[in-house]
Amino acid sequence: MLRIAIQKSGRLSDDSLKLIRECGISFISSSLKLKTESTNFPLEILFLRDDDIPGYVADGVADIGIVGQNVLVEEGMQHLTVEELGFSKCRLSLAVPKGDNYSSIEDLNGKNIATSYPNLLQSYLSERGVQANIHTISGSVEIAPSIGLADAICDIVSSGSTLISNGLKEVERVFKSQAVLIANKDLNAEKQEILEKLLFRIQSVQRAQRAKYILLNAPNDKVAEISKLLPGVKSPTVLPLLEEGWSSLHSVVNEDDFWDKIEKLKAAGAQGILVVPIEKMII
Ligand code: ATP
Ligand code: ZN
Repeated sequence: MLRIAIQKSGRLSDDSLKLIRECGISFISSSLKLKTESTNFPLEILFLRDDDIPGYVADGVADIGIVGQNVLVEEGMQHLTVEELGFSKCRLSLAVPKGDNYSSIEDLNGKNIATSYPNLLQSYLSERGVQANIHTISGSVEIAPSIGLADAICDIVSSGSTLISNGLKEVERVFKSQAVLIANKDLNAEKQEILEKLLFRIQSVQRAQRAKYILLNAPNDKVAEISKLLPGVKSPTVLPLLEEGWSSLHSVVNEDDFWDKIEKLKAAGAQGILVVPIEKMII
């Protein structure tokens, strides 16, 4: 049995549970319970505060966990990272009141900065030779300047709308974060084996999320040219259509260069292009 720690309730919770379910792991979850066990995979799920997850994994209370890199690096635990998960993307940024004349990081010398991430902020400032007074507060950091508690803040930003509604502007990006899977360094052989099974499933799910299945029709004399645009996992599948002189091509394309590819396919004579999501991708 492998024990995974995930956030009980917060910005990581839904996507963490979704990932576990997408790996085909079933469990009954209730917002009141602190732990649950999968019914079809040797996994026990613990629901904790995100800040506690790196420590519990390092100590072996949990074997693995899902946490934001911001929390992990702040706690000096980045060596526990096993896999980047691509969700809960956000950044840690410095922000000052909208009306301030800010020209460079040196402007923060001698200033009071409120944050929940003193270590990440300290190393960013030290690397740039800036000395400021860091005030560690655990919540509602964004109101610190308006109540006279600080001249600037360093906080998590995703869209920036919270900053704007508090009369602040983002001036420096301190750290880029996403959710990661972490693991204890001394797992026994049985747990290691379960972790590898889980990782294999996670990677298949992630690969599938980046890939799309594409089907299109093309005149036979264009098949060779279009095939070159569709390398797929091996090479595209080509099937004859009932209509004489036409074929159907099936392949997999990557989301990153998706639109570019569609343009080229159309230009090469592809018609009736269908693009469908892939649930799992095992290669
Ligand atoms: P807890 O009660 O578990 O301590 P919390 O209030 O500290 O929760 P959340 O606000 O739920 O934490 O954020 C959890 C993590 O989600 C953050 O550490 C960060 O990695 C990520 N995160 C925070 N804000 C955002 C956002 N706006 N968009 C995307 N990800 C975010
Ligand atoms: Zn927290």
